[in-house]
Amino acid sequence: MPTRPRSRLLLVLSSPSGAGKTTLARRLMERFEGELTFSVSYTTRPPRPKETPGRDYHFVSAEEFTLMVARDSFAEWAEVHGHRYGTSRAAIEEAFSQGKDVLFDIDYQGGRQLKARYPAESVRVFVLPPDMRTLAGRLRGRATDSPEVIQRRLAKAVDELGHYHAYEYLVVNDDLDRAFGELEAIYLASRCRWDRKSFYAEQLLAEASSEAFRTEILK
Ligand code: ADP
Ligand code: 5GP
Repeated sequence: MPTRPRSRLLLVLSSPSGAGKTTLARRLMERFEGELTFSVSYTTRPPRPKETPGRDYHFVSAEEFTLMVARDSFAEWAEVHGHRYGTSRAAIEEAFSQGKDVLFDIDYQGGRQLKARYPAESVRVFVLPPDMRTLAGRLRGRATDSPEVIQRRLAKAVDELGHYHAYEYLVVNDDLDRAFGELEAIYLASRCRWDRKSFYAEQLLAEASSEAFRTEILK
């Protein structure tokens, strides 16, 4: 078997806030440890109580963010819920150079920009809540935001939902195990697309036209 080629896949998860992207993303990272790297975004939002800088986000000031935009450091960036969020270009290139795929938890504006910049590499999955009441319940149950922030996020959820059609795949997160199974299947199938596997076929064709094939294998 030839060495594993780099599949260079950017797996984008988006959803209305509270639909379950973070939960699904964490599980996917555990399942594909060493093959998939999580893109830690930069944000001007303040950290929530249980968040760890460098693991959940790189928390930066508005000035630092503006400087990064000016330096063209972002593969994409957008304003969401009144704060700016962005994906570092260098982190994507580093993951690719290590032969890893990259997982993103970003909004639809970011998904659109990544698809434009990396059309062949990007696979976008939109996570849907089973219904709006459940979505509201999950946001409240998470207890990480104030009631006003939750209100704002619910209003924004409707806006985010309206962009589902730009995505290649939809996953309904009702039962977590079932939803995870679908996400895993999407990732695995995407890795098997012919353009990501053509390396193997080309290698076989090259082998079949070699002298050794004629003299040793065909014999
Ligand atoms: P997002 O990252 O999309 O904002 P989270 O992953 O933080 O959403 O999920 C929001 C809340 O819903 C969390 O408390 C999480 O534990 C819970 N949750 C996620 N998926 C499910 C599910 N399938 N069933 C029940 N609760 C869920
Ligand atoms: P939260 O503040 O709940 O962590 O994230 C709010 C929203 O910002 C979520 O929809 C999340 O997917 C999105 N987001 C997080 N990081 C990025 C990023 O780097 N770029 C973009 N465009 N959106 C992001």
